[in-house]
Amino acid sequence: MLLERFPRVSLSHAPTPLEPLDQLRKALGGPRLWIKRDDCTGLAQGGNKARKLEFLLADALAKGCDTLITPGAVQSNHVRMTAAAAARFGMKCHAVLERRVVDTDADYEENGNILLDELFGCTRSYVPGGSDVGAECARIAEDFRAKGLKPYVIPGGGSNPVGALGYVACALELIGQAKQLGINVTRLVHGTGSSGTQAGLVAGLAAVKSPIEVFGISVRHPREKQEAMVFDLACRTADHLGMSGAVERKHVFADDGYVGPGYGLPTPGMVDALKMVARTEGILLDPVYSGKAMAGLIDHIRKGTFRNDEDIVFLHTGGSTALFGYKNLFLKA
Ligand SMILES: *Cc1c(COP(=O)(O)O)cnc(C)c1O
Repeated sequence: MLLERFPRVSLSHAPTPLEPLDQLRKALGGPRLWIKRDDCTGLAQGGNKARKLEFLLADALAKGCDTLITPGAVQSNHVRMTAAAAARFGMKCHAVLERRVVDTDADYEENGNILLDELFGCTRSYVPGGSDVGAECARIAEDFRAKGLKPYVIPGGGSNPVGALGYVACALELIGQAKQLGINVTRLVHGTGSSGTQAGLVAGLAAVKSPIEVFGISVRHPREKQEAMVFDLACRTADHLGMSGAVERKHVFADDGYVGPGYGLPTPGMVDALKMVARTEGILLDPVYSGKAMAGLIDHIRKGTFRNDEDIVFLHTGGSTALFGYKNLFLKA
């Protein structure tokens, strides 16, 4: 109902599974744990961007565009999936890669997502960390227009009201799955960055008045900035849905206690969480997003933040492709 009137292409293998994390729970104690496998969305090794790209690509195609331009960090999952989506629809793709992470090695520069960007035929240009990537994308779009192309600029992480519809869809999907399993999900925990995932979830849950609380774990910004970004985009997404006013400020929470030294920079908690989930559940997380989000979930379980009778869902947003850009971190540790 909520989403039917929006143009959408098919890119993701949804519904993604909702599975118990019984071995991890056994190791940790505490609340019942579930994992929503958005690492299995299917597009080019999966991840959360596939859901956003279903709406973004449809918008680009409706506007007659033939070229996607998008920014990201060098090891961007969003760029990798955008490049794959462009290939699927016969479009060109150009990425503006921001050197946001310093002191990197050859694996970070050439392996993981970058290797796959190359295979998908995505052209790339680099800018220093802290650059105005939006302005740089606009400049490249002008160049492309002068050459006769029809560019469509996708913002970082695909995070605008069109892309966030993908996570409105995920929220509705999760509510249906929880009902089928007969569980009462109290909280949904995930890593929050460019904010479209959390904004879409918050808007979708608010639109249907679901009591599920979204528990964001910031991977980049301090709490105040992250929550302001999420709230702003969640409100604009609700407007886009025709549900203005559905989102309240109290629906937005982002813990910034697990960022460590900065975006894309490892923390001991992330390394421990990533190994723990690999060794108890056989599931791969990633060093930049889901690993830090899981470090936060584990720490909150240990601190007793949650009641034992809660059903908590960890949204696995993907990203394990980036592990190959961080090889030395795990081999040396
Ligand atoms: C982009 C990304 C996120 C964060 O999602 P946002 O919508 O940008 O907040 C989380 N996990 C992974 C693996 C990602 O690639």
